[in-house]
Amino acid sequence: MVSEKVHCLIIGSGPAGYTAAIYASRAGLNPVLYQGIQPGGQLTITTEVENYPGYPNGVQGPEMMVDFENQAKRMGADIRYGLATKVDFSVRPLKVEIDEEKWVETDALIISTGASAKWLGIESEQRLNGYGVSACAVCDGFFFKGKEVAIVGAGDTAAEEALYLSKICSRVHMIVRRDEMRASKVMQDRVINTANIKIYWNSQTDEILGDKKVEGMRIWNNKTGEKQEIAVDAFFVAIGHKPNSDIFKGWLDMDDAGYIKTIPGTSKTNVEGVFAAGDVQDKVYRQAVTAAGSGCMAALDAERYLSEKGLH
Ligand code: NDP
Repeated sequence: MVSEKVHCLIIGSGPAGYTAAIYASRAGLNPVLYQGIQPGGQLTITTEVENYPGYPNGVQGPEMMVDFENQAKRMGADIRYGLATKVDFSVRPLKVEIDEEKWVETDALIISTGASAKWLGIESEQRLNGYGVSACAVCDGFFFKGKEVAIVGAGDTAAEEALYLSKICSRVHMIVRRDEMRASKVMQDRVINTANIKIYWNSQTDEILGDKKVEGMRIWNNKTGEKQEIAVDAFFVAIGHKPNSDIFKGWLDMDDAGYIKTIPGTSKTNVEGVFAAGDVQDKVYRQAVTAAGSGCMAALDAERYLSEKGLH
């Protein structure tokens, strides 16, 4: 297989990856960035972004990621289309396989492969994605100020997002598939004691209703079989995320859900020279701005590491 040697390799092209590329380029590391299968990452499937500082009038998610990419390119980053498919951290330089067809060797590696929201998998959810269907209440809740909305899920994320929405929206209909929630007790109590959150226990989504935008949902009770339609303007899915970390299993320390562990306050992983940034190592904040911040940290950590090793 063709092999190429680079100084600093970045895999993943969300805010973390592009920010790392900007910093690494300016530090003279000549970074090569492989974008993965979804160039721009999760922001390319959202619509308007209003909470990223520096865009006083808001910006479309895909447009913002093009801005990130162009800024990284202007600094000299070599941005390429391609997916990391395998790694070998037993050797120096580190090895990363791209598209199952070539190995790239690198002195430092920044992993910013992100996470993917889990979806219910129904047709209407896909069709109305970005038109009232969202996997991020913090990103999109504001657009439904004063409106009735739905959220599906029963973990800490769903509880946190339901509470967030309850402060903005007139009513939050929360769909829970069992007769109890998985969220921590304190979060459950808060949700249950919030007057404008209505919980539908033992309930599942049959269909999200609406032609061009979300207008309602049909849910069914999995104990009684009873169906009901409820008018809502938005449908939030909060049933968990999956970090895109499968190819690092066995090499890097991860938690049970597959989030890469970093040494607190740094982007360092358990393998020297391998750094992680963005959602692949963050299950709590998951914001574009926090991902960008951690991408900056990874580039600075990589630069320091390369200097210490006499490689830069
Ligand atoms: P979790 O995996 O904890 O919860 C997912 C929830 O979605 C579960 O209640 C599950 O139901 C439900 N669910 C899964 N699939 C479906 C489906 N097809 N239909 C309906 N419901 C479904 O994910 P979270 O994102 O909530 O949390 C991930 C981790 O991050 C957890 O460890 C959590 O504690 C942590 N976290 C911590 C926060 C904090 O500390 N502030 C904030 C947010 C998350 P069921 O229970 O029936 O399986």
